[in-house]
Amino acid sequence: MPEQITMRELLADPIYRRWLTKKPELTTMGYSAPWRVYLQAEPRGPWIEEDFQKYSAAYTYLRDNLRTSHDLALSCKRQGFKPPIVKRSGVREYYIPRPLSDSDAVKPSHRHVWCPHCRRPTLFLWYKKHHAMSGYTVSPSDRRCRICGVRYIFIPKYERASDGR
Ligand SMILES: [Zn+2]
Repeated sequence: MPEQITMRELLADPIYRRWLTKKPELTTMGYSAPWRVYLQAEPRGPWIEEDFQKYSAAYTYLRDNLRTSHDLALSCKRQGFKPPIVKRSGVREYYIPRPLSDSDAVKPSHRHVWCPHCRRPTLFLWYKKHHAMSGYTVSPSDRRCRICGVRYIFIPKYERASDGR
């Protein structure tokens, strides 16, 4: 199974870090807490979830657990978000950090994809069971986000910046 970039690695990227610290604007109404932090304590270990009404509280929880957890995501259950946008040579383009290992040599289906709900690049793979969908039947023919379980066919696809970093 390919290795997924971790939140610690992602936050080492100043552009992504600045973007994640900013409170995103919710445009979809709802009653349940919109923000969900997914936390994986150990590599290949189980994921746990914690829901938050306020973005600042979710971010603080993520920050406080960054050192001691293997991986995390600050997801939005209610709506998807576009990647950060940067201006390069006067052109605005999406900025999606990705690991060096995510090279052209890797099969396209095993490269990182921007998950609009997890608000970070993740791997979309095939599952017989998915931690985020316990109690549901998961079709093994669907590619799903490794963290939140959203189906690949349902998400908008964002192109990476021209130089890929
Ligand atoms: Zn996701």
